[in-house]
Amino acid sequence: MAQDIKDLIIIGSGPAGYTAAIYASRANLSPVLFEGQVLGGQPGGQLMITTDVENYPGFPEGILGPELMTKFRKQAERFGTEILSQDVVKVDFKNQPFTLESSEGKTYQTKAVIIATGAAAKWLGLESEKKLQGHGVSACATCDGAFFRDKHVVVIGGGDSAMEEATFLSRFASQVTIVHRNETLRASQIMQDRAKKNPKINFILNAEVVEIKDVSQNKVTGVVLKDNAKNTTSELSCDGVFLAIGHTPNTKIFEGQVKLDKKGYIETTDGTKTNIEGIFASGDVVDHVYRQAITAAGTGCMAALDAERYLAQN
Ligand code: NDP
Repeated sequence: MAQDIKDLIIIGSGPAGYTAAIYASRANLSPVLFEGQVLGGQPGGQLMITTDVENYPGFPEGILGPELMTKFRKQAERFGTEILSQDVVKVDFKNQPFTLESSEGKTYQTKAVIIATGAAAKWLGLESEKKLQGHGVSACATCDGAFFRDKHVVVIGGGDSAMEEATFLSRFASQVTIVHRNETLRASQIMQDRAKKNPKINFILNAEVVEIKDVSQNKVTGVVLKDNAKNTTSELSCDGVFLAIGHTPNTKIFEGQVKLDKKGYIETTDGTKTNIEGIFASGDVVDHVYRQAITAAGTGCMAALDAERYLAQN
């Protein structure tokens, strides 16, 4: 049973969630923030699996991702945010007050909600990919690139992320091979051009990685490629595999509750408003274009201001 009705619940603990919490707690809304923990969530968001962050303003020497998130968290706590290390597993946004169910089986009621659950990297879904994660298979070049000094790495994907990751990896690796399943790249021209001009980067187009070797050695030694045109397979030796095939927004629990776009991101209008009055969304769960800590923090601030205004009017 619900004990009391909260003013504001924030779901998610990345830059968007914590920034919303800082603003909401300073506005005396006593927000409760679910940081996500149990269901494979990443408390602190994607910056927790990042090393150096050099583009967050205010840190001219750079800062480690986890350290930055610890500072966000402390700042939210300082002004009275109650942080719960639980996941939200079910929501009912059809009736006011809104109801949220946590992974501990508790029920919470609230007048307003800010969704800031972020997005997660996509994987191919291969057994070998799963077994070799952390042993040469990664979805974060920024985090793991430096382990591949003078090595040959494969980057999978044909979008801007793949170009960006490949360009970044070329700082360390001796060779970077971009493997893309289509004949044409999806990436913007400028990003393609940059990658194509880089002497360390080469492309294998119209090909898919169907297996990563070698699970028995517990390290990456190569990939099995399927040529989509000829329908043949071949092997390519490499020391690392980076996935850059996009992200999935963490919106499973909101299906049928708030309006999502066709990729599953939450649709917002007029700032951070969703189609349900009193439910706001911010950060990567909305934004599949910019996906930066600073933009997530910015929209987290907007969501708190929008929620504050909504609560004052209702
Ligand atoms: P995208 O969705 O743009 O691209 C994903 C790529 O991965 C596509 O080429 C897609 O192939 C491929 N892909 C998807 N699923 C699979 C699969 N199962 N197997 C093999 N390949 C697959 O994602 P990005 O992360 O690249 O970009 C997301 C957004 O972020 C874009 O709007 C992008 O512009 C932006 N961005 C901007 C950057 C910048 O400007 N600095 C940097 C990074 C991202 P296919 O083309 O065949 O569908």
